[in-house]
Amino acid sequence: MNNQNNDVIIGLEVHIQLTNLKTKLFCSCNNDYRGTEANSHVCPICIGLPGSLPVLNKKAIEFATRLAIVLNCKINQKFWFFRKQYFYVDLAKGFQISQYNKAGGRAFADEGKITIKLNSHKKVIILNRIHLEEDPARLVHKGSIATSPYTLVDYNRSGVCLIEIVTEPVIDSPEEAREFLRQLKSIVQYTGISSLDLEGSVRVDANISLRSHERSEVKNINSFREVERALRHEIIRQKNLLKRGKKLIQETRHWDDKRRITISLRTKEFEADYRYFPEQDLVPIEIDDNFIQKVKDQLPEMPIERSRRLQRDYNLSEFDSDNLVLDKDIADFYEDGVNSDASFGPNEYKQYCNWLMNDISRWLNEQNKIITDTKLHPHQIVDLIRYLNEGKITTKIAKTIIDDMMEGFSISEILEKKDKKRISDDNLLKKLSKEVIEENPKIVNDCRDNPKAIEALIGRIMVKTRGQADPHIARRIILDLLKQFGKIK
Ligand SMILES: [Zn+2]
Repeated sequence: MNNQNNDVIIGLEVHIQLTNLKTKLFCSCNNDYRGTEANSHVCPICIGLPGSLPVLNKKAIEFATRLAIVLNCKINQKFWFFRKQYFYVDLAKGFQISQYNKAGGRAFADEGKITIKLNSHKKVIILNRIHLEEDPARLVHKGSIATSPYTLVDYNRSGVCLIEIVTEPVIDSPEEAREFLRQLKSIVQYTGISSLDLEGSVRVDANISLRSHERSEVKNINSFREVERALRHEIIRQKNLLKRGKKLIQETRHWDDKRRITISLRTKEFEADYRYFPEQDLVPIEIDDNFIQKVKDQLPEMPIERSRRLQRDYNLSEFDSDNLVLDKDIADFYEDGVNSDASFGPNEYKQYCNWLMNDISRWLNEQNKIITDTKLHPHQIVDLIRYLNEGKITTKIAKTIIDDMMEGFSISEILEKKDKKRISDDNLLKKLSKEVIEENPKIVNDCRDNPKAIEALIGRIMVKTRGQADPHIARRIILDLLKQFGKIK
């Protein structure tokens, strides 16, 4: 896909919290620990008191089944959990209950795939497996981990259900990794198993190597956004070492997102160090065909099908609809909007999509917000398009009112407010129009054959007045002047 990077090999391990579960993986404590008082959502099971017995959350199996189906994985209908032993303060029991695909154990599901598109090329990213495990407790520091005088432990997160998605090492570049994660995020959103915009709901470990050299594992990248950055840094670091004649070693590194570097944690531990063995406190799990079929029957529409439907129902291009469906909230917003006006047809469907995917999305990106965080209502864009198509406002003005629209003001309210500041003084507009005509001889000449070129001249006046000129008066004056100068009939 990208020849520049064909010496780079990347595999990802993505940990996703199933935030939409009500309770933890092996106890009935509240799964939602965000904003809660520390150590208030705990019980003997999730703080690992001796003698406490875990009980599997059936809903977690249903959620994992949903994900396995949509990722085209092969579900292992019989499996049991394993103990992964290690000592750390965030792990009260001294082991994490997880799944293991060796020693007779199995993952929740094997294989699977996600198709990504980059520069209009398609590529299938093959998955190795997905499995369930429990989240350890959360460590809280004062400021940065390196300078904090203490570490606090909050067990509210201990036992929250994680699903781990492991890719084969088939990713060739940081851009491909970014695209893979974008698609994965979208799929997870549509399945309804997790809200990945919640802080701390994803953690990524990336295995990365240059062909025929040892790999390093970059641990605990705490957002999808950081993954591309961490990978870029790590590739450069490894290449620089080789340039200086150094040898790369297999090691685990930590991504420091403040300083944007990776730091060596330890040379890689081996699996044997974890002394995996079957968790005897839980019975083996069996999932029958009926259960899987039932989950399949209840699956909501997925992004791929939705994209096809949007192309069909709203006459959108593949490119537009693929972009539109990526974020379910955006796609829901779109359909609410275009369906609220019966007079809308293919032109308006396309216009609506453009406003949503260009100006509105840009605003959301800049403000680092999601659409459901704003007061924007689907009907406001319907109004905007009406005003534009009826010639009541120009595109240029429309672009200047996005900020106010996001605050929930209706188009008429915004325009009324603007009206008070509107420049409608004939003499001033005449002076500006003359300037614009002098400064743009080429556009003026175009006006003879192309009446639309006048829009460009009006646009120039808008720039000079920061969008405050009355477009109707400006149009009348420009037309008068052009006739007067013999530029149009
Ligand atoms: Zn508990």
